Amino acid sequence: MGKLPDIQLDVKLAQLTSYKIGGKADFYSIANSSDEIVALVQYAKEKNIPYFIFGGGFNTVFSDKGFRGLVIHNKAKKIEVEGNMLMCDSGILLALVIVEAKKNGLGGVMELKGLPGTVGGAVYGNAGAHGVSMSDLLYKALLLDKDGNVKEVENDYFEFSYRMSKLKQTKEIVLNVTLKLPKISETDEVDAGDFVEFRANKQPKGFSAGSFFKNPSPDKSAGYLIDQAGLKGERVGGIMVSDLHGNWLINDGTGTQADVVELAKKIKKTVMDRFDIELFPENIIIDEYGKSIDI
Ligand SMILES: Cc1cc2nc3c(=O)[nH]c(=O)nc-3n(C[C@H](O)[C@H](O)[C@H](O)COP(=O)(O)OP(=O)(O)OC[C@H]3O[C@@H](n4cnc5c(N)ncnc54)[C@H](O)[C@@H]3O)c2cc1C
Repeated sequence: MGKLPDIQLDVKLAQLTSYKIGGKADFYSIANSSDEIVALVQYAKEKNIPYFIFGGGFNTVFSDKGFRGLVIHNKAKKIEVEGNMLMCDSGILLALVIVEAKKNGLGGVMELKGLPGTVGGAVYGNAGAHGVSMSDLLYKALLLDKDGNVKEVENDYFEFSYRMSKLKQTKEIVLNVTLKLPKISETDEVDAGDFVEFRANKQPKGFSAGSFFKNPSPDKSAGYLIDQAGLKGERVGGIMVSDLHGNWLINDGTGTQADVVELAKKIKKTVMDRFDIELFPENIIIDEYGKSIDI
């Protein structure tokens, strides 16, 4: 087992996420390798305290009360390429995976340029953009289960669907992944610049975690429904529905998780009353013990 990294007490989580929301974690540690993740989970199990792993913090809404256990900040970022296989730790940013793939003449990932976060977070939520999702790229992965066992699994294990993987139920941790990527010379490579420009024009500025709700169907986006329900600009406390994009909830810097939850419930009810369509959150909203909060 790896060496146990330093554990800090009472660390404010807000500053570590793109939403800038979250109270203090009782225990917090940065893992720089898969072995350190395993050691930290072992530590939490021995102490009988809950644990929660996160990477970039671009999709997580922590509790205003913080976390009553160990928050593991995953910064494990080993990466290597062999042929058309790219192997990496789960704490590496997708942005760096794209750079490394390109350097080695591999493609198929340019669509994800500008998608913030780590490989682990992207596998957990099957993140994607412009028609490419993690499920299209992942060949196999090494997981750590709740009993502390490490196992290798292949793509079908994850039961991937739109912004969904089995990990949302099992809470297994991704330690590292192998992506199978086409050679650039064998694919119609897209121009990543277009995607970066798209984001610059279409994405609201400010503290957020990207799209809040999943799209209920490919032809009806959550943003369109929220807009049609007249909810753009709606506000609870420091959280507001963006004027630019109905599915982005923006924190003015004073917002809390309680504000996010109240506004999201209001949006969900209004869209249900108006269109008879149920919205489900894409953002991960957890209480102080790591349990998901229902919207
Ligand atoms: C400006 C902006 C634009 C965005 N655009 C997109 C987009 O185009 N497409 C899209 O899909 N999303 C988008 N998002 C959302 C976000 O980028 C993705 O959800 C991303 O995959 C989150 O990665 P992360 O490392 O930040 O996850 P985190 O927020 O750190 O974690 C998210 C969840 O994953 C779990 N998790 C993290 N690491 C692991 C691991 N190693 N093993 C198991 N579980 C883990 C956490 O426990 C948590 O439940 C956007 C967000 C922002 C702020």
